[in-house]
Amino acid sequence: MADRYFFDRPITASHATLDGPEAHHLIHVMRIRPGDQIIVFDGSGSEFAATVSRLDRRTVALDIGPRREVDRELPSSVEIGVALPKGDRGRWLVEKLTELGVTRIVPLTTVRSVVRVDEKSLGRLRRGVVEASKQCGRNRLLEITSPQPWQSYVESAAAPWRLVAHLAPSGTTPLAISVSAGAELAIAIGPEGGLIDEEAEAAVAAGWRIVGLGPRILRVETAAVALAAWAADQVMTAADARSQQHRPA
Ligand code: SAH
Repeated sequence: MADRYFFDRPITASHATLDGPEAHHLIHVMRIRPGDQIIVFDGSGSEFAATVSRLDRRTVALDIGPRREVDRELPSSVEIGVALPKGDRGRWLVEKLTELGVTRIVPLTTVRSVVRVDEKSLGRLRRGVVEASKQCGRNRLLEITSPQPWQSYVESAAAPWRLVAHLAPSGTTPLAISVSAGAELAIAIGPEGGLIDEEAEAAVAAGWRIVGLGPRILRVETAAVALAAWAADQVMTAADARSQQHRPA
């Protein structure tokens, strides 16, 4: 895939100017020249071939080619509610969930969460989404919402499939589930210190199904990535099965 650059404003005209870190990278790292071609996207679901027309020390002027709708999203929405781990592990998690096609991350605060997500750390995580999207080809950005308390999240999540990863003492339901085509999924994962019983019970009371990933204690990010990969496979398989059914024999 050609080098991709992100515009934080909608691309609507045949000329556009990149500035900020994206322009810095093109000018000082890639040493771009007038006439060079790149791909740009603005998170709206499309991408554009663009040709460098002019550049100075801080900005790159581009001639923008026709809009190309290139959809690399999952066929239906997958949301991950997670008490984010600290620092690099949180950033790693956001990168991997972006690559796997997750639609939305809802940072959760729980009784045993250690990390408080503030505007500054949200900004850094959202920048990580852009970087991962440039690399993996997504033209829509994974959304990171503002943090929500566990209780209100499990009570308000609207997806028809709602699964909570939990190590129940009596053993947990394995992932022997097949979601139907078009069904949206929400998956909740607890913090490093685990969910307290009341939190798991609140989820079950709100219609969430407890799922297990075996008898080992996984890191938050391992559980989140494993479940996101499983969910991506489920929604893609369901969509494929539906399109096979509708194909004329
Ligand atoms: N000491 C904690 C461990 C938390 S692990 C405890 O006993 O609960 C962090 C989170 O990852 C958990 O809250 C759960 O959501 C998920 N998780 C980790 N291992 C899991 C497993 N084997 N099955 C299901 N969920 C798991």
